Amino acid sequence: MMQIKCNCEVGHHEIPVKTIEVSEHAIEKVADILKEYKRIFFVTDENCYKVAGKRVEELLSEAGILSHTLVLPSPALPNAENIGKVLIEAGRDREVYDINAFSYNPDYILGVGGGSINDTCRIVSYRLGLEYGIVGTAPSMDGYASVVAPLLNGKAKIVYTCSIARHIIIDLNVNAEAPMPLLLSGLGDMMGKYVALLDWEISHYLNNEYYCGTVRDMVMDATNAVVEAGPKLGDRDIETIRRVSEGLILSGECMAYTGTSRPASGTEHMIGQTWEVFDVKEGKVPNLHGIEVGEGTYAAIELFRKFYRESDDEPVKKIVEPYLPLFDKLEELQKIVQLPFTVTDKKRFVDAIIAGRTFRVRYTLLQYLYDHGKLEEYADAVYDTVMEKYFYRTFKEQFPDWE
Ligand SMILES: [Zn+2]
Ligand SMILES: [Zn+2]
Repeated sequence: MMQIKCNCEVGHHEIPVKTIEVSEHAIEKVADILKEYKRIFFVTDENCYKVAGKRVEELLSEAGILSHTLVLPSPALPNAENIGKVLIEAGRDREVYDINAFSYNPDYILGVGGGSINDTCRIVSYRLGLEYGIVGTAPSMDGYASVVAPLLNGKAKIVYTCSIARHIIIDLNVNAEAPMPLLLSGLGDMMGKYVALLDWEISHYLNNEYYCGTVRDMVMDATNAVVEAGPKLGDRDIETIRRVSEGLILSGECMAYTGTSRPASGTEHMIGQTWEVFDVKEGKVPNLHGIEVGEGTYAAIELFRKFYRESDDEPVKKIVEPYLPLFDKLEELQKIVQLPFTVTDKKRFVDAIIAGRTFRVRYTLLQYLYDHGKLEEYADAVYDTVMEKYFYRTFKEQFPDWE
């Protein structure tokens, strides 16, 4: 059980996470961390089996706590087919068939992989009432400690309530070798937190929405640490990978602590996730979450800057003001990291800002602008600024072989 004390109306938050291990060679500790379990069902995909899964399997097997292994074909999207495979393979038949008995179930599910494997294991864990954990192979998004999973069900991407991981194990040496698009995605997902926190503060002020200052400060500190180290991401610097990994896990934890994704998701996610929805509706595989959130963050920054320049709403401007130097830091970071963009078409860009307002029920700057009759004008105006200031190349140009 992890917990924090704070001064919000709740006063104290807790989540049933037992272990978060982020360290070099963390994989070697897996059997020790999971020693309370006896029959672990181990799920991974082909790529992750090579980079980490094989070693995890060996260690669990040596310790006598491995039930069996399922290796899904790569890339293993969190879709109904893969979730179905995990469900079918979760139980083992008994040696002697017994018409009165059910299959012999594991006592734990361990995923080795990134966001897709985590989401796939998490929904099965929740449905079967089995605890689960994840050995993360790439710091690409903040879902390791999340309580929901966005799953592909037919042509729709639907967010399902799930269980939270009991153990999160991040081997920094493995994560530092993750494909560069995944590392950039993790950075993009973290960059967005400034915008998320600002939206949360504004909604707290305008709508008296629930808010926890302690959680806000935790995410702020973690984001600062990531932005400061960000320039070394391209070198696969271990300390940078540590900060990104820890920041992403902490963001997930903070969502779980507060029971809302407010600490981790605001205007930038509403825009980025709307692009994902456009892709899903068109039958395409969505781009990496954090890459779209990163681009969405630059759109959000420019919306906030324009608001600050032009609005006479002094109380809200006062809330925005301390964030302006942080936005400057993100602007500087982009000159070094040059996060690629997925959306460069003006209509698609502008449409997502307008449609993003209703991506979910959440008061953000998009709703504020809409209520003041300014959303369309702002969406149209920031496109040129974002492309001029932040665009270097498209994701496809930088990573032509990425599926
Ligand atoms: Zn609190
Ligand atoms: Zn995210």
